[in-house]
Amino acid sequence: MAPSPDSRPDQRTAETVTVPTGRRAAYLVVLVVLPAVLLALAVPAAWGWGVGPRDLVIAVVMYFVNIFGIAIGYHRLFTHRSFRCRRPLRIALMLAGGLAVEGPVTLWAAEHRRHHKYADREGDPHSPWRYGESGLALLRGMAHAHVGWFYTARRRSSRSHWVPDLLADPDVRRFDAAYPAVVALSFVLPTVVGGLWSMSWQGALSALFWGGLVRYAVVHHVTWSVNSVSHTFGDRPFATRDRSSNVRWVAMLTLGEGWHNWHHAEPTCARHGVLRGQLDPSARLIRWFELANWADDVHWPNPHRLTAHRLPHRSDG
Ligand SMILES: [Zn+2]
Ligand SMILES: [Zn+2]
Repeated sequence: MAPSPDSRPDQRTAETVTVPTGRRAAYLVVLVVLPAVLLALAVPAAWGWGVGPRDLVIAVVMYFVNIFGIAIGYHRLFTHRSFRCRRPLRIALMLAGGLAVEGPVTLWAAEHRRHHKYADREGDPHSPWRYGESGLALLRGMAHAHVGWFYTARRRSSRSHWVPDLLADPDVRRFDAAYPAVVALSFVLPTVVGGLWSMSWQGALSALFWGGLVRYAVVHHVTWSVNSVSHTFGDRPFATRDRSSNVRWVAMLTLGEGWHNWHHAEPTCARHGVLRGQLDPSARLIRWFELANWADDVHWPNPHRLTAHRLPHRSDG
């Protein structure tokens, strides 16, 4: 499907803009170093004190909200417009995605639209094949695609070029302006719930650690696995110009996003897991939204296009 005129990148604007050094340093801390440190701390903490059922429930609920928010909201709705939905649901999905602390929706969508245009070629912000195909080069490329690009990239995708449609949306602009508060909420929310549930400061602190900090670190690494693992390993039953692939464990953790091969063949399709046995909980939820009349104009897979994209003599994986 051709993009609607108001979502087409503006050819008069530059595709990328320079990132100030201070901002790159912030990306290094928030997106690369802090999640790694937190995961390293989580191992001895889980070993020594364990994770109580209360903190586990809070962390798992936050995880589902975040991953659905990124998969359905940031990715399928705002970046690819694979369906339309009512305003309260749009705002809720944007908020759920924002709580994942992966940046404002305009920035996320701008980088991702550029990824689709140049996938695994010159210009892709995060291709694992950037340094070559030999063992060490590929390992270095995977690290780059996973988190390295956040810090090493001197230029970011320009929002006025890639997401003029989102910048024209007053709800999105308000959300972007409120983004620091959304980040704070991502940590305050589990803390308050843990405190009220246990009626103790101790309970608030341990919920902040497991439901806030460790959860954000896990959500990040799970999301970035689509960029690193699902462009490297796995099977490719559909013809695409890139190395996008299907990886079952990534698909399970990302609630459907790891069925990445069909997604690159047909980016505006609301369902990514289209073959037999490819569970896609995000698509299932969009279907429920459609049945409840909260969503419409859903781009479901077209059987003719599925056949047309399908490579011959390949199994379903
Ligand atoms: Zn991709
Ligand atoms: Zn995409």
